[in-house]
Amino acid sequence: MAVERTLSIIKPDAVSKNVIGQILSRFESNGLKIVAMKMLKLTPEQAGEFYAVHRERPFYKDLVEYMTGGPVVVSVLEGEGAIELNRKLMGATDPKEAEPGTIRADFAEDISANAVHGSDSPENAEREVRFFFPEL
Ligand code: ATP
Ligand code: MG
Repeated sequence: MAVERTLSIIKPDAVSKNVIGQILSRFESNGLKIVAMKMLKLTPEQAGEFYAVHRERPFYKDLVEYMTGGPVVVSVLEGEGAIELNRKLMGATDPKEAEPGTIRADFAEDISANAVHGSDSPENAEREVRFFFPEL
């Protein structure tokens, strides 16, 4: 498997729960290296553009509001098969369906406040890394 880079966001609900360290630790202990990281508060423009694929979905407005409701921690994770590995560590979008021991099973509130984001394909990983870290 190839070494990949993927974008991770620790979302506002997890930041406000004080579990940034516990989430980052799961990445590190599963072989993902944090190669870039920053904490910031997304503007509505940034969140809207980041989640533009969901523009037509009924939850889009709430999603943008929630993602701008507090600071987030954005990082680039690197490792063998990083994109899929990160998605596996995250668990299903709806924490009720997430495997036990996954980040969302352990830290997410519900399907809208679900603790983390992770890129879902090589194309999106590249776009999302560039979105936050154009210098990489
Ligand atoms: P993410 O893109 O944040 O990593 P995901 O890829 O697991 O999550 P997507 O289908 O891309 O899920 O949805 C993006 C985000 O939109 C979800 O993480 C969640 O915060 C929100 N979302 C998705 N489906 C719903 C829904 N049915 N109701 C409310 N919010 C939703
Ligand atoms: Mg997604």
